[in-house]
Amino acid sequence: MKNATIGLIGGMSWESSAEYYRIINQEMNRRLGGVHSAQCLMYSVDFEDIKRLQHEGDWDSLAQAMKDAALRLERGGADFIVLCTNTMHRLAEAIPSVVSIPLLHIADPTADRIKAAGLQRIGLLGTAFTMEQDFYKGRLIERHELDVIVPDEADRRIGHEIIYKELVLGTIRPESRQAYREIIARLIERGAQGIILGCTEIMLLVSEEDSAVPLFDTTTLHAVAAVDEALRSSRE
Ligand code: GLU
Repeated sequence: MKNATIGLIGGMSWESSAEYYRIINQEMNRRLGGVHSAQCLMYSVDFEDIKRLQHEGDWDSLAQAMKDAALRLERGGADFIVLCTNTMHRLAEAIPSVVSIPLLHIADPTADRIKAAGLQRIGLLGTAFTMEQDFYKGRLIERHELDVIVPDEADRRIGHEIIYKELVLGTIRPESRQAYREIIARLIERGAQGIILGCTEIMLLVSEEDSAVPLFDTTTLHAVAAVDEALRSSRE
């Protein structure tokens, strides 16, 4: 049996891309047994360039970079694309304009799991781009009919700094975990029934024991959805 080939756009950051690679292979093996592993390609970018362009607000250049990565994966034989970052889903619509293979949007398996758990009001953690702009919240609200709340401005700044100064480098500090715990607790006080770890590095720092409500880790949910898709499309 030949499964579909998963095409991963990684490097944002490579710390979380390594998690995708691990989870996808473990999940494929769990489903298929033996020494099965995932057929996949990863194109991994230099995050220094990406971070600079994000903070300069140069989304046109970022769109070019994402299109280029997607084209490389398509040329390499990928059957679909997994963009291994929440933030860069701001450009989710740019990718299908240049390739003929589909993009598996990170917000969809996340929202599906939240709805399956019967939850409605959800707290969203991520970079400032993800928490403040509409591309991600909008999809959760309009397409999936969830109520989304984000931390206040001071908490958003703290969460964003921890991601870009520590987590993308694999730096894990207990003080930062405590800061995230407090941010989560404040979202719960405002009625959050669950929390989206809407940045693919947050799972390196925070786990279920840091929250009184369920956590929805986008890295794991997206990686598992990629395995679902690879197995589903191989049967067609
Ligand atoms: N990995 C992060 C995310 O899921 C942030 C890094 C990036 O800006 O792409 O949003």
